[in-house]
Amino acid sequence: MLDVLVIGAGPAGLFMAVTLGQAGLAVQGVAPHAPTRPWPNTYGIWADELEDLGLTQFLSHRWKDCVVHVRDRTLPLHRDYGLIDKDRLQSHWLDQMAQHHTHWHQGMVTQVDHTPTHSSVTLDGGETLTARLVLDATGHQAALVQRPATDAIAYQAAYGIVGRFSSPPIQPNQMVLMDYRDDHLSAAERRAPPTFLYAMDLGDNIYFMEETSLAHHPAISMDVLERRLYQRLHHRGVQVTEKHHVERCLFPMNLPLPRLDQPVVGFGGAASMVHPASGYMFGALLRRGPAMAEAIAHSIKANSTSTQVAQAAWQALWPQQRLRKHYLYRFGLENLMAFDAPQLNQFFKTFFSLDTPDWSGFLADTMTLPELVRAMLGLFSQAPNPVRWGLMRSVATHGQWLKQAFF
Ligand SMILES: Cc1cc2nc3c(=O)[nH]c(=O)nc-3n(C[C@H](O)[C@H](O)[C@H](O)COP(=O)(O)OP(=O)(O)OC[C@H]3O[C@@H](n4cnc5c(N)ncnc54)[C@H](O)[C@@H]3O)c2cc1C
Repeated sequence: MLDVLVIGAGPAGLFMAVTLGQAGLAVQGVAPHAPTRPWPNTYGIWADELEDLGLTQFLSHRWKDCVVHVRDRTLPLHRDYGLIDKDRLQSHWLDQMAQHHTHWHQGMVTQVDHTPTHSSVTLDGGETLTARLVLDATGHQAALVQRPATDAIAYQAAYGIVGRFSSPPIQPNQMVLMDYRDDHLSAAERRAPPTFLYAMDLGDNIYFMEETSLAHHPAISMDVLERRLYQRLHHRGVQVTEKHHVERCLFPMNLPLPRLDQPVVGFGGAASMVHPASGYMFGALLRRGPAMAEAIAHSIKANSTSTQVAQAAWQALWPQQRLRKHYLYRFGLENLMAFDAPQLNQFFKTFFSLDTPDWSGFLADTMTLPELVRAMLGLFSQAPNPVRWGLMRSVATHGQWLKQAFF
């Protein structure tokens, strides 16, 4: 019988199909399209995250000059940022899958049934596929993974343009992680939920300019983001002269964690792996996939029941320490959403003035729990009073996340 059936051919699904194949398991995949279909999103990542994994050859762009603008200051970040060369990485993973003869079925998964020894999924065309373990990598709106219902989902939303402009919209050769300056907005607009510019020089006079809402419930509309991007450009005397591509980005930041005792295992967006306080996930896929694949392979080779294999996989993905950190990040997210524009500016000024290992470890989720706590306390001690007040107010209103993290 097949060992693992991977559902979904986004980055999470392809990476796990490769990693499980390399662990010696019989793997197949299912997606409504061929696994060769290009991934639609643009993926940014800190270059050192790929350096640590020996994967920097999969960057299409790399910026040394990376900055954050807040109202009264520009903060150089002294850390390289890059764009994933998604076509190259996808081809690389497809080649690796070919070496393991990983077959992909075409169809939408509509149903799953479990027995103690295997799971069977049904596709929209009526086909049934059976495996010891089903791994759901169908993204944020997971097809099979179950999670508690909530109506308070906060979304990251962004409207971006790749194109040419009448003059450089940011400094040439630069990457702007966040530009929170809002001098182009009216007083009323400045009281509305803040948005920022995420931008990069792609070379050849082409720039990517994206107006982004870090997290908001309900999601900030694309119309608002588009209008704000044009207001920002207009204020700086810049016009769009060629529009090559428009990116509309919308994904949940605070999906509840899936139940960790369910017989289907999730990975990627389906397993709530997006960093709740930043929206990044790509580095987490690459770092956390191998341990989960190893746990699955070990459990399958030990002839465990399907339920036991699934439990081992969930434990490897969400061990107690990581759950605790996740709850701290959820507390961080609640703070970010509660801050008004002046507080957010002060917060990020303090955050990016921390020692680089502290803010970078926070964003990449590579710190241990004690390191993370120390970094967060450091931030609190260095923050100006309005930010501290905001954080203390959050302890009263969202203290449940701290309780879950520490007790
Ligand atoms: C526009 C955008 C930009 C982003 N930028 C970044 C970034 O810069 N850096 C970063 O780290 N993260 C970023 N993210 C967040 C995150 O990394 C992405 O959402 C990422 O694509 C999630 O990967 P995934 O493989 O889990 O899901 P997806 O990429 O959504 O792939 C899901 C796969 O499952 C398939 N599928 C869905 N339903 C079914 C079904 N019923 N049966 C079979 N197959 C199914 C789909 O066809 C697809 O193949 C971004 C997200 C968006 C939306």
